Amino acid sequence: MTTTIFTNARIFTGSGNTFQNTMMILGHQILYVGPEDDPAILCAKSSGAREIDLDNHIIVPGFIDSHVHILDFALSQRRLNLLSCKSRLSIRETIKAYAQEYPELERVVCKGWVQSSTGGLALASMLDDLDKRPIYIQANDLHSIWCNTAALHELGAENMSDPPGGTIHRDENGKPSGLLSESAHLSVALPFLTSVVSIEEKLTALEDAAKAYTAAGYTGMIDMAMNEEDWEVLKLFRQRYAGELPFHIAAHWLVPYSGDMDVVFGYVDRAIALHREFHPSMSPTFCVVGIKLIADGVVDGCTAALSQPYTNTADPVATIWPTPALQAVTQKATAAGLQCAVHAIGDAAVKQAIDTLSLSSQVQPNGPPRHRIEHLELTSPEDAKRLGQLGITASVQPVHSDPVLFRAWPSLIGQHRCGRAFAYKEFLEGGARVAFGSDAPTAAHLALPNLYNATTRKSAIEPESEETVNEHFGLELAKAVEAATTGAAYSRFAEGWTGGLKKGLNADFAVLNMDWRAEGLLKARVTQTWYRGTEKNIDCHTRNLRQIVSRSRL
Ligand SMILES: [Zn+2]
Repeated sequence: MTTTIFTNARIFTGSGNTFQNTMMILGHQILYVGPEDDPAILCAKSSGAREIDLDNHIIVPGFIDSHVHILDFALSQRRLNLLSCKSRLSIRETIKAYAQEYPELERVVCKGWVQSSTGGLALASMLDDLDKRPIYIQANDLHSIWCNTAALHELGAENMSDPPGGTIHRDENGKPSGLLSESAHLSVALPFLTSVVSIEEKLTALEDAAKAYTAAGYTGMIDMAMNEEDWEVLKLFRQRYAGELPFHIAAHWLVPYSGDMDVVFGYVDRAIALHREFHPSMSPTFCVVGIKLIADGVVDGCTAALSQPYTNTADPVATIWPTPALQAVTQKATAAGLQCAVHAIGDAAVKQAIDTLSLSSQVQPNGPPRHRIEHLELTSPEDAKRLGQLGITASVQPVHSDPVLFRAWPSLIGQHRCGRAFAYKEFLEGGARVAFGSDAPTAAHLALPNLYNATTRKSAIEPESEETVNEHFGLELAKAVEAATTGAAYSRFAEGWTGGLKKGLNADFAVLNMDWRAEGLLKARVTQTWYRGTEKNIDCHTRNLRQIVSRSRL
């Protein structure tokens, strides 16, 4: 093994706001971080250690995406993107041209439909004359899918009743009309579309996704809605790498809501079994760490659970889970040593999630369970403080706070309530650990624009815009990078081996060509990514942010 010394660098170790200039690694570990004139460095140099002069570039711990759906991200990269289509005509022309270009495809699968481009209309009859094959069009927010008649038939929607938490929209005769929303998309259409892609195609897509993540400076991720099918594919993918993926991954097992608690507990039992089989203490880089529960929807779809009604509705939207059921599930999972992650966007869902997690957030035999809440888009000042008090991680996706994606909020919930949106600084000041993620594929996976959103609160999608979203809730750059690295590692109990730069931790880091200024983040570039002491190839995959940004979350 060769000792490698990085000199002439500005090394951000993962916390604080000071830099070191020299780091030494051996094998997969960091041996030293500090000044260059230390005897250990001088000795290593005289013994012939390899030296890499970083020309004043910045080293940060490898980014960890705290909330991603990696197989969905991988597959979504291969779907026809309709995001730039502003009208029904444009959608039809784009699909028609694509269908003619790819006659060998069994079905046409699209993404990026913005509902307003069709005036909210999504009828099978609007697509049926384009092609005989099934046509599926995922909404940009991933909360619904628009199908032609062949697709509805392929899904068996005619003979299906609405799944819990979902709607198969129907005409006046009760016949499916084309749109499947919420769990009808998530639990019916999406699993079907994943199941019809061959294993080999999935592995190839994952290969591309891994390259895209490495190129963006990531060395780890937390998958936030794992299921049987995806886990099997990931296991195969790992085998292809002889057990050594180019990143570490921890998974939260999705426990969908059902009125039948036997069904619900079946998912929890499966998560417990997999946690034992792929335990973070035995398999830290490929493990099942917890469960994921979805407590509400999204503000843009008017499905997030708010304490007050939306401007266009009389009654508040309720949370998906009744509180007793949520309590029963989180307590069972916690007792088995699992972390609980609750998707909660609206203030009513956040309150329910905190109340529930508070019952099982006390110290367990092996320490606090480090439960987490995902998204936290609208919170009361009281709840923003409670996160820290209860040791609940604030798992947030700054890319969702982009001003471009916020434009519908004032009309949906009223301007006066918008002032509470994305209150990251309050979470931090309340003592909560903050972990950043991207929620790809619902948004861009890139780490640096995510940091730009978190710090400047301006748009990474329209950089020329001066709009901001609650600028006073923005984080300092060092705190933001900490959330994207150390905080993310802490959120999955991995801070003992990754997420920071100090002696004994894994040599997982990214080299950035940038000024250490929030305003400079969109011009910053990842020039090297190292995982476990090995430099990874990042030559490919410069992606167009505009192409892959979206408006929602899962
Ligand atoms: Zn998600």
